[in-house]
Amino acid sequence: RVKEKWAATRIKYPPTGLALQYFDATYGSQLGKLWPSIRVALLSERKYGALLNNFCHDDVLAGLEAQGSSDFISDTDTEDQTSEEESSCVSMKTSDADGQPLPNLQFSPHIKCSVFPRADITRFKPARPDIYGLLGYYLMDAASVLPCLALGVQEGHNVLDLCAAPGGKTLALLQTQCIGFLCVNDSSVSRTLRLKRVLRSYVPKQLLNDEKLRITSIEGTKWGEIERNTFDRVLVDVPCTTDRHSLMEHDNNIFSKSRTAERRRLPQLQLELLLAGIEAARPGGEIVYSTCTLSQTQNLDVVEQAIYMAQEKHGIHLQVVDLRPLTHMFRKTFHFAPDLHLGEMVIPHLAANFGPIYMCKLRRLT
Ligand code: SAM
Repeated sequence: RVKEKWAATRIKYPPTGLALQYFDATYGSQLGKLWPSIRVALLSERKYGALLNNFCHDDVLAGLEAQGSSDFISDTDTEDQTSEEESSCVSMKTSDADGQPLPNLQFSPHIKCSVFPRADITRFKPARPDIYGLLGYYLMDAASVLPCLALGVQEGHNVLDLCAAPGGKTLALLQTQCIGFLCVNDSSVSRTLRLKRVLRSYVPKQLLNDEKLRITSIEGTKWGEIERNTFDRVLVDVPCTTDRHSLMEHDNNIFSKSRTAERRRLPQLQLELLLAGIEAARPGGEIVYSTCTLSQTQNLDVVEQAIYMAQEKHGIHLQVVDLRPLTHMFRKTFHFAPDLHLGEMVIPHLAANFGPIYMCKLRRLT
């Protein structure tokens, strides 16, 4: 046993400890009695989902089902879903607790994500390549698929994924197989290289050509200056305090002392990225803002400010799109935060240890 006082490499203030201190101080008051159970879940092993790769030639879903997992997206109460034969969308018709109908929300039936049942903590095996070298599934937090479903991509849409690396959500969007043109961006060159590697492992070469896809490494906050009023759908999946990672991993931890200034600047960067995404969307187009933090400062506050500033600075009027049909539909798989007045949030729970994922959908009226 190494005596602690002799261990020269021991960090005095490990970033994971600083993260926990910070979360206790802020989330304790923000989340009240929900915080202790979320805290336990965050400090426990997370659960993954296997995003099915439709481009793989093996019958991967059957293999995963044989192991006991199932696609959570199709595994919902049947009255919630109606497939429209002529269209490529699933339409959700739901009602709230008082039986009042909720607005309709449409999404692609081709996105599939397999999860093990509640309280089952079996791990997925690594995905295997098919005869063309394409992997059968991508392991990610199953709740990360929800912002992609919420985006509601439809046939021929021109889509922008503004902060895309390492590419989990890009892959989910590509599974819809209905995007007209997809712009994938991430300001980090090294992370963009990683994203390209991910895409090459999952998507056939012929679909990664310039007619269908553009991959860039541009500063996302500047997008509005480059390409305004263009996209049908924009995903703004911003950098954040990545709460789960910050509590568990020392490496690349935003709570390390050397990154304090960067961490403090996050809400401003998030606001600028969301505003750029709003500008990039066409009038009538829709934007989904998402994070993997519980922080109100990085979630609701950013969206509220963006709605205000879009109108003040750019004369863009926005409407918040009700995502309750989505939370209603997937209530068996995820725990959602109750009573958020803006957007929806998956909160970690020991029996369903996904998230946190916050998402808010906006529609450009002008
Ligand atoms: N959407 C990704 C996925 O599903 O795999 C995860 C995105 S991650 C939460 C946020 C990303 O934003 C990081 O890859 C980071 O490099 C990128 N980023 C940070 N600042 C940015 C900026 N100013 N413009 C564009 N991308 C940025």
